[in-house]
Amino acid sequence: MDWKVPLADLDYGTEEEQAVLAVLRSKWLTMGAVTQQFEERFRELTGTRYALAVSNATQALHLACLALGIGAGDEVIVPSLSFVATANAVLYTGAQVRFADILDPLEPTLNPAEIERLATPRTKAVIVMHYGGYPCRMHEILAACQPRGLRVIEDAAHSPGAALAGKPLGAWGDIGCFSFFSNKNLSTGEGGMLTTSDPALYEKMKLQRSHGMTTLTYDRHHGHAFSYDVVDLGYNDRIDEMRAALGLCQLAKLAANNARRWQLTTRYWDSLPAGYAARVLEAPFAHLRVQVETGALLPACHLLPILLPEGANREEFMTGLRERGVQSSIHYPPIHRFTYHRARCGEVHMPKTEAYAAREVTLPLYPTMGEESVDWVLASLM
Ligand SMILES: *Cc1c(COP(=O)(O)O)cnc(C)c1O
Repeated sequence: MDWKVPLADLDYGTEEEQAVLAVLRSKWLTMGAVTQQFEERFRELTGTRYALAVSNATQALHLACLALGIGAGDEVIVPSLSFVATANAVLYTGAQVRFADILDPLEPTLNPAEIERLATPRTKAVIVMHYGGYPCRMHEILAACQPRGLRVIEDAAHSPGAALAGKPLGAWGDIGCFSFFSNKNLSTGEGGMLTTSDPALYEKMKLQRSHGMTTLTYDRHHGHAFSYDVVDLGYNDRIDEMRAALGLCQLAKLAANNARRWQLTTRYWDSLPAGYAARVLEAPFAHLRVQVETGALLPACHLLPILLPEGANREEFMTGLRERGVQSSIHYPPIHRFTYHRARCGEVHMPKTEAYAAREVTLPLYPTMGEESVDWVLASLM
């Protein structure tokens, strides 16, 4: 469809074209100097000791689970209000998922009290997801995890460049997982990044990213090695140099683009129509209070979620937007309600997640969006 205002759009220009062309002309296409540079720049962004570029965030989450020793017989606490990959990464390892509810329909991140309710002697870790680019309550989450010896993985797919209390997201837990899928804040088509400050976790993830091999093609090309050993069961979760080059360009634009997202977000918040304003405004401001109290940097503003009034007909609402050329979406159908996950993980009830997911609509937001497009969307809500 030809949308007047699409849900998301890329900020791509001649820099990206030139960067990819330079890689093509260099004829070194995968896991080389450009990837190393991308990892180095990303490590600076999160302030972690290590960053490891991978093929996508789904595999980043999978490698993170494996590095923490999660497997059959273990349980991991996972938000149901997330993209399905957050839970699937755990299931790949043979471990079981325990779904956690959100704090409130007005604050849709993992409720720290759920950790106490769901933890058993088998629980190994908690995955948190910084919904829409707004931080989870990390102080309370860590306080619940630490005495129980639970490890923490951050699904930071929505939140590159965001921080809480001055500390970047992706640096709070044991491991951070980022996505560079086309519609994310930093996009390379497909791609992902792992961040950690633990050298043992880093080494384990690095090995498993590339078949558990002790040396890489790049090392052998540079005469550092002739052969290799395989010391672990690994995968091919590598990124290529074209994507790493796109990632470097996008990373250079990230701070300005996130700031622009923030500007547009506040324009939405300031002028949402009265019918939705009270409910709508509370949702982001619930996050905002966390931000302001802790003196954080800006959130990543990946999504612009609004909550329709109870009983509103969402399909009709979204059809009305479509007729005005405005694309909208839903984040997310809860994972615990999917056919596969009900069969595999058992029937559970998540009242707040279900209430939120039934009323949520995501409106267009992207850094190249003009004020007039925000105003068009706002006018279309009436
Ligand atoms: C996009 C996304 C993922 C998966 O990322 P890919 O890079 O597409 O594998 C995981 N979790 C969340 C919350 C996401 O939004």
